[in-house]
Amino acid sequence: MEIELFQFPGSEHQQMGKRRSGGKKQSRGNKVRVALRRNRQSRARPQNLTRDMLTDAVSAEDAETGERLSGKGSLSRRRTIVTAGDAEQPVRDIDLAGCHAGRVVSFVGLNCLVHSDQDNRNYECTVRGVLRTMARESRNAIVTGDRVIFRPQGDVHQGVIEQIEPRQTVLSRQSQGREHILVSNIDQILIVASTASPELKTNLIDRYLVNAEVHEIPAIICINKTDLVNIVTLQNTAAVYSRVGYQVLLTSMVDGRGIDQLRRLLAGRKSVVSGQSGVGKSSLLNTVDPGLNLDTSAVSEGSQKGRHTTRRARLVRLRSGGWVADTPGIRQFELWDLAPGEIDGYFIEFRSFIPYCRFPDCSHIHESGCGVKDAVDTGLIERVRYESYLRMRDEDAPHRTAAPPETLP
Ligand code: GDP
Ligand code: ZN
Repeated sequence: MEIELFQFPGSEHQQMGKRRSGGKKQSRGNKVRVALRRNRQSRARPQNLTRDMLTDAVSAEDAETGERLSGKGSLSRRRTIVTAGDAEQPVRDIDLAGCHAGRVVSFVGLNCLVHSDQDNRNYECTVRGVLRTMARESRNAIVTGDRVIFRPQGDVHQGVIEQIEPRQTVLSRQSQGREHILVSNIDQILIVASTASPELKTNLIDRYLVNAEVHEIPAIICINKTDLVNIVTLQNTAAVYSRVGYQVLLTSMVDGRGIDQLRRLLAGRKSVVSGQSGVGKSSLLNTVDPGLNLDTSAVSEGSQKGRHTTRRARLVRLRSGGWVADTPGIRQFELWDLAPGEIDGYFIEFRSFIPYCRFPDCSHIHESGCGVKDAVDTGLIERVRYESYLRMRDEDAPHRTAAPPETLP
């Protein structure tokens, strides 16, 4: 949708335009002002938190700087738009002098918290109105993980985001047919399970793996609480995933097994840590970097005050230079948006056998001449993985017709 210019011959509007533009005699001022107002109204629909926060942030900024509402301001917005980027993430041409590069690490109230590469400090930033306007068809104008260019303002570590760099990866979920990005620019997903309390559910690991494959983000499997069982009992499970091609890490925060390895894997990378509640995600991260001081589940379940806390992604910085996103909304994301017929391709070891199925839309459940079932029978595909696939298809079918859960972002 383009900014619409309305013709309002009435002098009342002209007066307003003059006042808003600081006395500049721009006859367009009033027109644009009206148009912007319309835009703001249209994006004030309660669709998602990020969007609402941005709307408010932009409104606040606009209210602060009357110039933003003037015709000149609006025209210069158009001139600064360059064709790089795409509709989802347009890129502006800006004067970089005095700006910092940084990463959005969380949202504070209506503002983003941005970690500056330059001085390693966090800046509370609003978003330049033009960015919002350019991406107003998108629900994901800015998300945690985004690389941004911002201009520091004042002396209390505040700033304005001038530019958002194109995203390398996004972790998202569908809600009512629309994509909602939870976090961007993630290098890897650490899928944490535990040997006991809660018991090891390979099924759940497989669901998380499918999700990682959907988003094309490398996954690492971490089986925690190895101190609670005889390690030999885990060999089979570890071997299944190693054969498929996933890295498997065995850890325990009690005896320290695998912690150094985990620390090395997280160093310098941006990771999402996901897995069922109680498997030890927070404990592991605290062990890797005691400075993090994350709440462990007993505490965090009770301290999640309201929806806002749980819906917002947050990146925490490791001493090793890496970043970890560890938030409830990301931990337990589910596959609500995947059609049953699409699941097979995300079991990566099935891929080379699917072309041997007689029917192009083979479900690999009951058909004869099925390449996947043959591979299971000959041991080329692990039976537990195939069973996981069957279960996932079975579970996903009824879920898909149910309303998406709004407890997650
Ligand atoms: P989260 O919900 O995944 O973040 O799990 P927490 O980190 O809060 O841990 C849940 C419980 O498991 C806590 O009581 C931890 O002390 C315990 N726990 C975490 N890691 C281990 C481990 O390696 N071994 C054992 N025995 N308990 C652990
Ligand atoms: Zn088949």
